[in-house]
Amino acid sequence: MSDLTSLNLHRAIQGLRQGEFSCRELIQAYLERIQLLDLDLNAYLFTDPEGALKQAEAADQRLAEWRKFPQTELPPLLGIPLAVKDILCVKGMPCTCGSKILEGFVPPYHATAVERLLAAGAIILGKTNTDEFAMGSSTENSAYGVTRNPWNRERVPGGSSGGSAAAVAARLAPVALGTDTGGSVRQPASFCGVSGLKPTYGRVSRYGLVAYGSSLDVVGVFGREMQEIALIYELMAGVDPRDATTVDLPVPHIDLNQNIELSNLRIGVPKEYFLPGMQPQVEQAIREAIRHLQALGAQVEEISLPHTEYALPVYYLIAPAEASANLARYDGIRYGPRLSAATMWDIFYRTRGEKFGAEVKRRIMLGTYALSAGYYDAYYGKAQKVRTLIKQDFERAFQTVDVIAAPIAPTTAFPIGEHTDDPLAMYLEDVFTLPANLAGVPGLAFPVGFDQQGLPIGMQLMGSYFQEELLFRIAHAYQLTTDWHLRTP
Ligand code: GLN
Repeated sequence: MSDLTSLNLHRAIQGLRQGEFSCRELIQAYLERIQLLDLDLNAYLFTDPEGALKQAEAADQRLAEWRKFPQTELPPLLGIPLAVKDILCVKGMPCTCGSKILEGFVPPYHATAVERLLAAGAIILGKTNTDEFAMGSSTENSAYGVTRNPWNRERVPGGSSGGSAAAVAARLAPVALGTDTGGSVRQPASFCGVSGLKPTYGRVSRYGLVAYGSSLDVVGVFGREMQEIALIYELMAGVDPRDATTVDLPVPHIDLNQNIELSNLRIGVPKEYFLPGMQPQVEQAIREAIRHLQALGAQVEEISLPHTEYALPVYYLIAPAEASANLARYDGIRYGPRLSAATMWDIFYRTRGEKFGAEVKRRIMLGTYALSAGYYDAYYGKAQKVRTLIKQDFERAFQTVDVIAAPIAPTTAFPIGEHTDDPLAMYLEDVFTLPANLAGVPGLAFPVGFDQQGLPIGMQLMGSYFQEELLFRIAHAYQLTTDWHLRTP
């Protein structure tokens, strides 16, 4: 059988149903590729070959029965492999969140997003690498080693969902789940030359997503083509009684085969997203992609999101503040390893002191400080007010344009080690992704070119709340007429 890992999701679904190959062969192809390449890439922290093959056999049986009675409905993802960022709970698989403090923790339940995809027939290949508790932009903050960028092994894959992005880029999974609190789906998608969606806040349940910044966290998905991402998105989206922030709106089926008419579309290009220090090839590729959309009929105009420059300081107060509260539960008593000490307090100090990494500790300290009595109004309170201004920037913009097109990161994938001693330089990587999280709007990343060193460049489309389908349609029109998304390392 020729390489099954090169099939897109819909071809794989079709091939399984038509009996061109078995699910066992499909899963085996991915497992073999993981074995061949992942020693070097380190995209996966955990794989479950036996479990995956067992489920493949069950799927093959189900397919065989279905071929006898093809009028019955099959689960839409039956037999389709999936990778899951190691910050989402999968029952029975370890969940480390890239941290030593959760070493050995095996959640007794599935995250809602995972549960829904499993119910749709997906087969989980394993859990992918992440910056510790999703804090980072390079996957270098993982306690289990950096993931390497499949386009250049000396470069980072981005982060924090770097393992999922690298897995999709290297075809170690056709699609993968990630999370995006401040850019962690879009930025690694850009660095690895794949597509990725950060849905509207509240569109996908956070139940079973280990909390980082609860008012920002959202489950997203990586793939290459829009149909793949749209299908996974629509299967995981929707209200969930176990997450009170999910919104009770219907999730319509997204059919991207319908005609896409861009001529009534107004695209805004925010002038604040083009900074003098950014890599010139990144700006060129973005401008070229926007021209391409214009050539397809869209109207393009420059807009202003005037509070963009405050997104970075606002995010780096709010996210650590929420993280400091969320991470208080890792005390060596309830989850993961416990280091012995004389008193309860010493158990806390020792376990947290030795098992949390440097970046997590930095954020817990920043957040605790920002929330402390006497500083709360000056830092956290002020940040919340400016967050509202950033949100209003978007609301105002969406009165005159339908979507916003912008860069994702000021540079392409940087060398491993380049920013590890300079947290501020690392935080600066996030300038263009943070605003969408602070406002809660959806953002869709897709590849639009390469720099001179052959590293991928991504662009993001941001839309108003729950406008994911519109974003998919535009990116799909772009992908139908370009081939950046089809290039592989
Ligand atoms: N890079 C950002 C941070 O370090 C965003 C991470 C994320 O989206 N999880 O917090």
